Amino acid sequence: MAADKSEIVKPGKAKSKTELQEVDLRGKIVCLPEAMHAVYGIDLPTNHGHIWGFKTKDGTFYTLLRTKLSETLFVDEQVRKKELILKGHVLPKTQIFEMTDMKSVRNGVVCDLYYYCDICAIKTLSPGPCMCCQGPVKLVEKRPE
Ligand SMILES: [Zn+2]
Ligand SMILES: [Zn+2]
Repeated sequence: MAADKSEIVKPGKAKSKTELQEVDLRGKIVCLPEAMHAVYGIDLPTNHGHIWGFKTKDGTFYTLLRTKLSETLFVDEQVRKKELILKGHVLPKTQIFEMTDMKSVRNGVVCDLYYYCDICAIKTLSPGPCMCCQGPVKLVEKRPE
């Protein structure tokens, strides 16, 4: 009986994030159905729903998990147009990517990419509204000093 109990307790904590290796993926956001159409000739319905994923420079595709931190990739077209370096985890046994941080590449230079509220001086990965004053935030691409 005691052994059974400990097994029940385990799964929730089993895959703590520290066990997952952090990786950087460099590439661009793509619509996965469109990319699969282009690469493998798969037929799409006339009005397909975009499914945003990530294509790395070596041509590997990843599905992006929509989380609080990655929300911007799904809602901000400005960000989707950029060459990006996404930091995060490829979840075990999947090609699903959980993003924890992002940078952009502009003219070959790696820049910090974030939203900024001028009033509160708060940096965030969330496309807004500002978590403090509820006002608009602006996208900032900052070159290293
Ligand atoms: Zn699409
Ligand atoms: Zn604010």
